Amino acid sequence: MHTKVADLLSSKDYNNDVTAKGWVRTKRGNKNINFIALNDGSTIHNIQIVVELANFNEELFKQITTGSCLCVTGTLVQSQGQGQSVEMQAKTIEVYGTADAETFPLQKKGHTMEFLREIAHLRPRTNTFGAVLRLRHHMAFAIHKYFNDKGFFYVHTPIITGSDAEGAGELFRVTTLDMKNLPKTPEGAIDYKEDFFGKETKLTVSGQLEGELTALALGLIYTFGPTFRAENSNTPRHLAEFWMIEPEMAFYDITDNMDLAEDMLKYLIQYALDNAPADLQFLNDMYDKELLARLKSVTEKPFTRLNYTEAVEILVKNNAKFEFKVEWGIDLQKEHENYLVEHFKGPVILTNYPRDIKAFYMKQNDDGKTVRAMDVLFPWIGEIIGGSQREENYDKLYARMNEMHIPEKDLWWYLETRKFGTCPHAGFGLGFERLMLFVTGMTNIRDVIPFPRTPKNAEF
Ligand code: ATP
Ligand code: MN
Repeated sequence: MHTKVADLLSSKDYNNDVTAKGWVRTKRGNKNINFIALNDGSTIHNIQIVVELANFNEELFKQITTGSCLCVTGTLVQSQGQGQSVEMQAKTIEVYGTADAETFPLQKKGHTMEFLREIAHLRPRTNTFGAVLRLRHHMAFAIHKYFNDKGFFYVHTPIITGSDAEGAGELFRVTTLDMKNLPKTPEGAIDYKEDFFGKETKLTVSGQLEGELTALALGLIYTFGPTFRAENSNTPRHLAEFWMIEPEMAFYDITDNMDLAEDMLKYLIQYALDNAPADLQFLNDMYDKELLARLKSVTEKPFTRLNYTEAVEILVKNNAKFEFKVEWGIDLQKEHENYLVEHFKGPVILTNYPRDIKAFYMKQNDDGKTVRAMDVLFPWIGEIIGGSQREENYDKLYARMNEMHIPEKDLWWYLETRKFGTCPHAGFGLGFERLMLFVTGMTNIRDVIPFPRTPKNAEF
């Protein structure tokens, strides 16, 4: 049985034999003694293997290069050198897999992020992506823990949908029809009755609508699953396939909704600080010297809350600074969101947006112009959460759907929840990768998901 490097490094079991397995990060030394830095992904840190060359077959030892995979047995000793507490004195080394030094792409340090995306099959073996992937795990786990501890139930909403839920972006089709020989109706349209589900189907852009159905039965629920948007935007903040966390709460109003969003984000960031200090320290030192300070500051002070209308008043005064000029009614751009978070020196929750730029299901305010929407804006990221109190009044919801040409035949079941035992309720969507951008300090969303899906890119 081997021991994980993370456990070896914290072990005090000196002078006993242990086995380590992992990949060679570096090998250096002289003709008598060599030092191999071995990493197995369990931690950002490597274990140092000390090899006295006289004890080893020269041919075997030559096979050990950066990237090769080893099984090493040896004695765990207190380290003589600086920077590590323990090291291993190698007794036997088995080479599981060599890595040809001519062609192995991860030879040197300091590859560009763009280059690493081209070798996404190997980039998990870099320090950076090891750190990002471990943090991604911690955050996913913390999300489940947070909601479970609060009595929320995890609900699985469908990936394949028969309705364009909220017009939240272009959808991907799901079909088994023969593209070269599409069945047609007498009018010449594609006959989806012939398709697998007997109707037109797409990949979901959000689990919210089905989430609402279950919240109106279980009270507090959340979803955490993949969502898909065929937005051809190619920005550093948009993926075609991303993960979304969507809590939905019966009997919550917009203020309860904001309180939950703020509490959850602070919890998650604190969880990362508490549970992944080494990975965060690495990212802080390598990429972004302000990362740790920024994370701490978000956990410490209350988020600023203000109305869209108040935000517009601030922005309009600074219109000279913006590429897109601000006036009441516009959808805010990244530059405006950035201005607001800088102005207030921290996260901002904006509420009561114009109804014409928001989805049909948001609760309409009495002014007839705004809806009870809330977006959470974060430093660096811009929008990290979008949510709202939902319209629970059947007549108002029905009228809004008509105005927005949303076919009743697609969403009759959603409307029925407002007919049978409706209640005030609210929810929001947190983009998991936007959270990961903030937590890791990475600047491109392609670098916080193992295998990104973006326009013209679905390799790996
Ligand atoms: P944006 O204006 O940034 O495109 P949106 O208004 O389309 O966002 P929502 O429909 O409210 O976003 O989705 C909820 C959350 O999902 C967003 O706040 C964001 O965190 C995340 N999100 C939305 N689209 C994407 C995407 N293409 N890739 C990654 N995350 C996304
Ligand atoms: Mn969008």
